[in-house]
Amino acid sequence: MLVNKFEKDYLVVAQNASGRNMNVPLYRFKGSKPGPKVYIQSSIHGAEVQGNVVIYHLINTLKTTPICGEVTLVPNCNPVGTNIKAGEYTLGRFDPINGTNWNRGYYFDEALVERFVDTVDDEEPLEKVKSRFRKVLKQKIDEKLQETWGLGLAQQLNLKLQQLAFDADIVIDLHNGPVSTRHIYVPEYAKDSAKLFNIPHVILIPNTFAGALDEATFCHWWTLQNLLRAKRNSDINVDVEAFTLEMGSQEVISFDEGRYDADSILCYLGAKNCLESNTYFPKSMRRVAVTLDNYKILYTRQGGIVDYLAAPGDQVKKGQALARVLNVDELENDRASQVIEAPCDLIPILHFPSASVLSGTQLYKCFTDYFELTE
Ligand SMILES: [Zn+2]
Repeated sequence: MLVNKFEKDYLVVAQNASGRNMNVPLYRFKGSKPGPKVYIQSSIHGAEVQGNVVIYHLINTLKTTPICGEVTLVPNCNPVGTNIKAGEYTLGRFDPINGTNWNRGYYFDEALVERFVDTVDDEEPLEKVKSRFRKVLKQKIDEKLQETWGLGLAQQLNLKLQQLAFDADIVIDLHNGPVSTRHIYVPEYAKDSAKLFNIPHVILIPNTFAGALDEATFCHWWTLQNLLRAKRNSDINVDVEAFTLEMGSQEVISFDEGRYDADSILCYLGAKNCLESNTYFPKSMRRVAVTLDNYKILYTRQGGIVDYLAAPGDQVKKGQALARVLNVDELENDRASQVIEAPCDLIPILHFPSASVLSGTQLYKCFTDYFELTE
């Protein structure tokens, strides 16, 4: 029994050397009642494939779960990155032609928000302001896509996706770490929403743009909200949130884990009034958070072959062994292996996926000075 109006479409995001269009599927569910617009994409980094299973489960659920508003799902949104293989691996993080990160070409322009706010008068209703803001931004992205001198492939792909995402009130970008435990990037102003997902590790990020889709969404809206609050001297809430969900390790999928993450997203959507009658509620669980500056990268001093002793999600004390490195040039003496110790109390969230590392490799990314989010 289908209860939501459902459309399937394709968006052309690139063209290959044979002149063929490369497109991504769009699945769009429309509820019969008004509600928020939701945009969810997966696999902008081509090796991070778990989000596709999550979207599969979401589609199956949404077919028979009455929704309010609209949900747009874009699985496998980077058809270039997913298909670049080197031996057994997917080179999914960077465009191999120029090294561009596939998740850094979205658009944010603070000056555009400032100019826009100058056009808002005190009487204009917030809904009208928001719809005009969307129009202005999408117009600007159109102009960029039409630029005489053209744009790089990653940026073109990003901007085409951003056109879709900017219509939404809720944007969720599905990723994976290299070898990783579940974590989520949450803008500081939406901190309370971190407790609506079933994700134990939360990174709180400031209103700073570094090129990713979540930032390109919330930096625009957060900046607009701040400027409007100052201008009208009132507690205006634009009610737009954006998140990056990191759901475990790249290069693998699990249908069971995908169900868990789909349910976790449905808990959030239920709390945000996207479901007509909500039956999804967040788990009672320990959630720990860090501010972005306390999410630290541990680089290797030495090259070698690594035994990763601390697993993502472990609680590690200062001085405890994180990893043991084998040096094949010293095997006969006591420098054959060296232990890398935790510089402080921490929780490793992810580590490098390969055992062989050069000096200066990002070995671990860790929560330090973390704190508990109370229910
Ligand atoms: Zn990613």
